Amino acid sequence: MNSSPEKVIILGAGPAGCTAALYCGRADLSPLVFEGEPSDNILPGGQLMTTTEVENFPGYPDGVSGPQLMADLKKQAERFGARFIYKTATKVDLATYPFVIYSNNERYETLSLIIATGASAKYLGLPAEKRFMNKGVSACATCDGALPRFRNKPVIVVGGGDSAMEEALFLTRFAQRVYIIHRRDKFRASKIMADRALSNPKISVEWNSVVEDILGDDEKGVTGVLIRNVSTGDRKEIPCTGYFCAIGHKPNTDLFKDYLELDEQGYIITKPNKTATNVEGVFACGDVQDPYYRQAITAAGSGCMAAIEATRWLESKCH
Ligand code: NAP
Repeated sequence: MNSSPEKVIILGAGPAGCTAALYCGRADLSPLVFEGEPSDNILPGGQLMTTTEVENFPGYPDGVSGPQLMADLKKQAERFGARFIYKTATKVDLATYPFVIYSNNERYETLSLIIATGASAKYLGLPAEKRFMNKGVSACATCDGALPRFRNKPVIVVGGGDSAMEEALFLTRFAQRVYIIHRRDKFRASKIMADRALSNPKISVEWNSVVEDILGDDEKGVTGVLIRNVSTGDRKEIPCTGYFCAIGHKPNTDLFKDYLELDEQGYIITKPNKTATNVEGVFACGDVQDPYYRQAITAAGSGCMAAIEATRWLESKCH
């Protein structure tokens, strides 16, 4: 428990949280960043920690590994006084002021709050998804699609929404063939995206089908999937080197639902072109408020915006 309130607490240490920390540090706010305790649900450093090579973050002409990028962003923020702690916010009270953040039994007060808790890709829950993570299993074709293991090889995409179409279309640039495995006989995706996927000669669809298992070994990683047709019960193997799960993302907003306006998918709603939320002094940046771009660089950009807005808001309260 702390005695005087923090000026700003930042929840999350992905690209958005680290960039917010950098800017808040340089504004002399000595930000306290909750990185989260590593667990099945919490990934200190965010989704980039599961990505091998990041080739689309400006400033790294030769690419950079996801963990290295996060280490660099954190180090840069620490240089200006950001304090990172391996704590997870377990409860918040945004109806009182200063705001209160709990981490289990510990209680922290803060004059402003930046939420950068990100979103988590949904997976089917197969044990093999964990076993082959970074060895052919991915939930981000934009991040991983160009890796050598997928080039000129067959890959599969699970899902029937816009994300699945987008992932499949992106993967056609590299893969020899892309199989979309969808559990129904109709896509949920918008017509334009579905038509684009269906008319691409490199894409085929396994309708009414579910993935029962991912095949492979520890050395080669993914070598295929076992699918079952839910109408006929028939099973078959599809050889592939990649398994891309595209069944949606879940923004990490459960903690805030009693206080903040969320859209129907659970993303925090911010003011137009701003990071301010419906609670004054609370800002949201990165994937937790972005169902559309979901890129490391856009998350970092919105982290910068949140820090500038928080800094100006704190200044306006003091004058
Ligand atoms: P989504 O629209 O919720 O689609 C998820 C897909 O995954 C559905 O086809 C669903 O099947 C399938 N699915 C879910 N759980 C599954 C499970 N356990 N096993 C097998 N399949 C499962 O999610 P999304 O595609 O990520 O899109 C989210 C939002 O972002 C949408 O509003 C979308 O329009 C938008 N978005 C837009 C673009 C774009 O316009 N460029 C790109 C990406 C996303 P069912 O259909 O059977 O439910």
